[in-house]
Amino acid sequence: MKPTSTDPVIGIDLGTTNSCVAIVEDGVPVVIPNRGGYKTTPSMVAITEAGKRLVGHIAKRQAITNAENTVHTVKRLIGRKFDSPAVKSARMTCAYEIVEGPHGDVRIKLRDQLYSVQEVSAMVLQEMKLVAEEHKGREITKAVITVPAYFSDSQRQATKDAGQIAGLDVIRIINEPTAAALAYGYGKEIDKLVAVFDLGGGTFDISILEIGSGGVFKVVATAGDTFLGGEDFDARVIDVLVKEFYDEHKVELRQDRMALQRLKDAAEKAKCELSTVSESDINLPFIISVGRSNEALHLQRTLTRRELEEITRDLVERCMEICEATLHDAQLKRTEIDEVVLVGGMTRMPLVQSMVGDFFGREPCKGVHPDEVVAVGAAIQGKALLDESEELILLDVTPHALGIMTHGKKFEELIGQNTTVPTSQTKVFTTSRDNQTAVKILVLQAEGDRVDENNILGEFILKDLRPAPKGHVEIEVTFAIDSDGIVSVSAKDLETGREQSIQVTASSGLSEEEIEQMMEKADEYLVDRRQSDEFEAMRQQVEKLIAEVERLFPDVEHIVASSDFGREALGKARGVLDLARRAVEDRNLAALKEQNEALSRTHRMFKGVVSRPH
Ligand code: ADP
Ligand code: MG
Repeated sequence: MKPTSTDPVIGIDLGTTNSCVAIVEDGVPVVIPNRGGYKTTPSMVAITEAGKRLVGHIAKRQAITNAENTVHTVKRLIGRKFDSPAVKSARMTCAYEIVEGPHGDVRIKLRDQLYSVQEVSAMVLQEMKLVAEEHKGREITKAVITVPAYFSDSQRQATKDAGQIAGLDVIRIINEPTAAALAYGYGKEIDKLVAVFDLGGGTFDISILEIGSGGVFKVVATAGDTFLGGEDFDARVIDVLVKEFYDEHKVELRQDRMALQRLKDAAEKAKCELSTVSESDINLPFIISVGRSNEALHLQRTLTRRELEEITRDLVERCMEICEATLHDAQLKRTEIDEVVLVGGMTRMPLVQSMVGDFFGREPCKGVHPDEVVAVGAAIQGKALLDESEELILLDVTPHALGIMTHGKKFEELIGQNTTVPTSQTKVFTTSRDNQTAVKILVLQAEGDRVDENNILGEFILKDLRPAPKGHVEIEVTFAIDSDGIVSVSAKDLETGREQSIQVTASSGLSEEEIEQMMEKADEYLVDRRQSDEFEAMRQQVEKLIAEVERLFPDVEHIVASSDFGREALGKARGVLDLARRAVEDRNLAALKEQNEALSRTHRMFKGVVSRPH
């Protein structure tokens, strides 16, 4: 069914560290706060000992005591193969267990259950969907989800799958910096070259866009580093703390998971504080106990902003190098940039702001909220996709060159880096041997100029070719990148005009059946969650009534205890109270509902008694 403009569509910034959801209401984009009132939700998922799923702030709060079953920074794993360097490094640093899945993909083990990365991401997406649904008071299925500009085909595909598992119809995947630029330029009549500098928890992205009149947003260039973000800043602080602790006590703090998790928390907290103050106290009492006597050791230290800047300056410099290269690719001078938009929590760090300012020779723009712009841009894009009256044209580019590997192991580029998408290219293939009936082709997405096994998107085989002398059969193959940045391939036999459908089988993807199963599990969770929400609401109501009836009890007793009838009523009321307390204890929803009725009657009667003149 074609979506209509009346369907609400949400924009979700599915961040490495935090996620955010926005929607356009009466032409105004708004960020939707979660139940706790926060506009961003930690992208964390945990499973408790009782098997309960926790998402967001409640997952983050228990991360220290349940580190092995709490997943964070899952975005670093999405769409990656188990044996990739990214996953290897995550396995070294994460307290949760990462294992190999059936397709050479990544699975996460939580309390003896295996979850795909898409599934864990889906849990975060499902939470954001629920946040929006509570706000709107209706079901919402349509969404635009953002990804780092630098995400490859498999990472995009995996993000889309995560959306599907979460019960979302992902109408578009857009790049985070592009979304930020949209939020910045939406509704403004401007003609500007804008640089979006996004430094989040795990990744760095830079995009340069041309914003023109009539709502045209054209990405000129984009680049980034999927391994450069706030976590690296935290890691530097942790390194210092661990080393000093070792020098002093000869004890390695990293061996203790709980200690490490506490260190991480403390390092991040100090880093954030140092964005506003010049000194921060790190205080971790009983960080570890040692020796036969279990002697408790404490960690205490003051970190200054200057020290933090010293140990992390090279990370910011690395960002600036990437900016430099991107400008170079776009054949632009720094001074040609009219505006710099800062995105991501890390851009609150004064050193980042000053280095960016120095680099571009201008103060970054103050008008946008670094944590919210991406979701806002996604919501704007979502609205524009459904509403034909919206004038908004997004011209994004592909961050990776797409090509094929021919038998000489040579990479042959078909679509260049920074080509505007959607785009397609065709190439004619032919046989290299006589009577060859099949040709195997490897599709690669290059990362910069590096081409290796990790960049193989998949392979396909052109088969049932007519046996003929070599070079006589001609097959035209079309490589396309759609608006989501996702690659597809099709082929045509030029002689017969017959089309061959080709599936590029990405080796890290999930099968349709797996996705179906995961969707079912997500639905089950929803049913459970609705039940527990209903239970919680009922429990609160019953507890309130219990308290009210208990409060009125002595007065009522005083008034009615002299009559048989009154004594009988009091006895009944005691019975109702007992049953209600038991229903709360047993967590029995049906009983709670029943006692809610009975208590309400008792409460009404009690109120009647005390309000009558005596
Ligand atoms: P992501 O896009 O990866 O989800 P965010 O944009 O939410 O990430 O940024 C999260 C990162 O920003 C974390 O590393 C966090 O510690 C850091 N951060 C948040 N607030 C501040 C602050 N006031 N000063 C410095 N860093 C901050
Ligand atoms: Mg982000």
